[in-house]
Amino acid sequence: MKIPLVDLKTQYLTIKDEIDSAIQRVIDSTSFILGEEVATFENEFAAYCGVKYALGTSSGTTAIHTALTALGIGPGDEVLTTPMTFMATTAEITHAGARPVFVDIEPRSFTLDVEKTRERTEAEYYFDDQVGYLVNRLTQRRLKAIMPVHLYGQMADMNPLLELADEYQLTLIEDAAQAHGAEYRSKERQWKRAGSFGLVACFSFYPGKNLGAYGDAGAVVTNDAERAHYMRLFIDQGRKDKYTHLFEGRNYRLDTIQAAILRVKLQYLDQWNEARRRIARAYDELLQDLADIKVPEVMDYGRHVYHLYVIRTPRRDELFRKLSENGIGAGIHYPAPLHLQPAYRYLNYKPGDFPVAEACAREVLSLPVYSELTDEQIEFIVNTIKTLFTVH
Ligand SMILES: *Cc1c(COP(=O)(O)O)cnc(C)c1O
Repeated sequence: MKIPLVDLKTQYLTIKDEIDSAIQRVIDSTSFILGEEVATFENEFAAYCGVKYALGTSSGTTAIHTALTALGIGPGDEVLTTPMTFMATTAEITHAGARPVFVDIEPRSFTLDVEKTRERTEAEYYFDDQVGYLVNRLTQRRLKAIMPVHLYGQMADMNPLLELADEYQLTLIEDAAQAHGAEYRSKERQWKRAGSFGLVACFSFYPGKNLGAYGDAGAVVTNDAERAHYMRLFIDQGRKDKYTHLFEGRNYRLDTIQAAILRVKLQYLDQWNEARRRIARAYDELLQDLADIKVPEVMDYGRHVYHLYVIRTPRRDELFRKLSENGIGAGIHYPAPLHLQPAYRYLNYKPGDFPVAEACAREVLSLPVYSELTDEQIEFIVNTIKTLFTVH
């Protein structure tokens, strides 16, 4: 039996007719750039997230760059974020001209540790009343924003992060690239979706994400009319109309064929997320008695959408090999926390700086978790794992 980590083909076959006709519709219209398909997807996705505005972008990466630029984050600024994320989160902070500052993760959710974020903020920065910002005592840079990442489909603890942001005039930006449809219980005790907490939130529709396009695509979402207006221009060459450019923007537009595909797939997102949860519960049940394996913890403040089903084991590399030998695609997200990546040598972090993230990187392993996974496949995966681990 061969079981890939992500199986896009099987999913496509379940919706082939709808996808094919959506693509054909765009080709027939020859409206390849922006147009109604993009505008309609943006409205539908905004409604899904529970926000006023969604703007399609060419990828999750360009969504992050768009958000940071719209929030005025640039040279002389710092952004607090997690080292346990995909490179794009922090690379775009740098490309916007600012500097990422890492804070360790919380050991159960693997998302930004709120307590440590507060400690760092209060120990290393002072509030400059003149400029109205926190200033780093060492670097003299301004602390402008916090960017939590909703890792693996589970949201960061947003209420205390929002309080902290409020207290120190910080902007909260969500990297929601792995969390389409994930929910969190807001201060008003309402369940709200990822993307509706930050001033701006960023999504990726990379093919393997819970909502994936058939190529690169992404979106920024916000309730803020002014920022939405700016981002709309920024994504499309700073253009107010065909020949009037208000400033130098980018070409970060969402491809129209991708928008048509995403409109089809958005209708299935809840159903697919529910299937992911069902598979996660099956794994939880079947794996929880194994010694040396920790199944993922679900925080009671939120609802997980299992972009990835990530277990922890000190025998990770051995298990990874065993699964591969048996044709099972496992993943490691991520084998190295960002502060130890060669790209960040210039930030001068060293091993031991973020022990929780470092331990996590040594032990995490992602199992297949897409909605088309069959009971038989789950059983095969679990039985393969059981050849290495004893019941405790
Ligand atoms: C996928 C991802 C991105 C980048 O999205 P792309 O569409 O690949 O550019 C950013 N942040 C996180 C956490 C991601 O998982």
